[in-house]
Amino acid sequence: MAQATARLLLGGPLAQAVLATVTAEAAEYREAYGHAPALAVVVCGHEAPSMVYLRQILRGCEKVGLEGRLVEIEGDDPEGGLINALRGLGEDPEVAGIIVQMPLPDTVRLRPVVEAIDPAKDIDGIHPLNAGLVRLGYDGFVPATAHATLEILKGHGIEIAGREAVVVGRSTVVGMPVAFLLVRENATVTVCHSKTRDLRRHLRNAEIVVVAAGHPGLVTGDMLRRGVVVVDVGINAVDGRLVGDVDFASAEHVASAITPVPGGVGPLTNALLLAHLMRAARRQAAAREAGAAPLADIGAMAPTIPSLTRGGS
Ligand code: NAD
Repeated sequence: MAQATARLLLGGPLAQAVLATVTAEAAEYREAYGHAPALAVVVCGHEAPSMVYLRQILRGCEKVGLEGRLVEIEGDDPEGGLINALRGLGEDPEVAGIIVQMPLPDTVRLRPVVEAIDPAKDIDGIHPLNAGLVRLGYDGFVPATAHATLEILKGHGIEIAGREAVVVGRSTVVGMPVAFLLVRENATVTVCHSKTRDLRRHLRNAEIVVVAAGHPGLVTGDMLRRGVVVVDVGINAVDGRLVGDVDFASAEHVASAITPVPGGVGPLTNALLLAHLMRAARRQAAAREAGAAPLADIGAMAPTIPSLTRGGS
């Protein structure tokens, strides 16, 4: 008998729908304000592997009628240069969103750089103000990858509420925000990480597994429960091709649904980043019209999860 094969959770079609909306919104914005909202992609050090990803984002901006600006930091004081550039971009009314290439060079400290990003333009949600706003149920920016992980589940009609979920990875940009968003959708969530003693034992009970560890093939089919839904966030270059953190060949016969790599979370992440840019642009334009700073009135950004703000039911 042929082995069952999982349904593919493709990111492409969901990304296309997001981009169609962004294209329409960008046209409306240009019509109203006479320029396209700009995304500043700030790069410090040319050799980072993320350059390929950043160029994709810049091309993506052009395709939907947004402006993508590459800002390269040169000179012998990269940290000072980066911080000055970020402050300047914060004050530039045409720049609606800012992302900074990660990881930073060893000589540059992360904290002062993150803190120099205007939280209103922090569309990938790395500033502590956005992390706090999201955590407390306000309308802050969630990191785009974490957002895409949730949207790929919801967009394919995967039930989340009441299910056992395991997130492998606890980074501030993927693992932890994904875990929080899954709790917000009423899943019961376990977070595993590099110090977890028995990953297999936790995975065995999981109905939804999200893997963001940066280790190719870390999770194999024999570690998974039959019928599990798998979201593989990992992107690793192995022998000249991209693979995830899940061994797809063995997992696809155990899972009921699984994201491919590439073609799963990646394209939706890029599309949602541009959707975040549009949201930031609209919010900044409205604040300018009202003569207020975009995040001046946090009270106006209604908490989206009243139960959490009451202490968590
Ligand atoms: P990271 O290195 O910051 O964090 C990795 C996490 O995995 C850590 O919390 C660590 O504790 C955990 N981990 C490592 N080894 C483990 C093990 N053996 N068992 C259990 N947990 C383990 O990485 P990150 O920035 O969170 O990225 C994770 C992966 O996701 C990478 O492959 C990255 O390339 C990919 N990524 C993809 C997208 C996308 O759009 N698809 C975006 C960002 C990152």
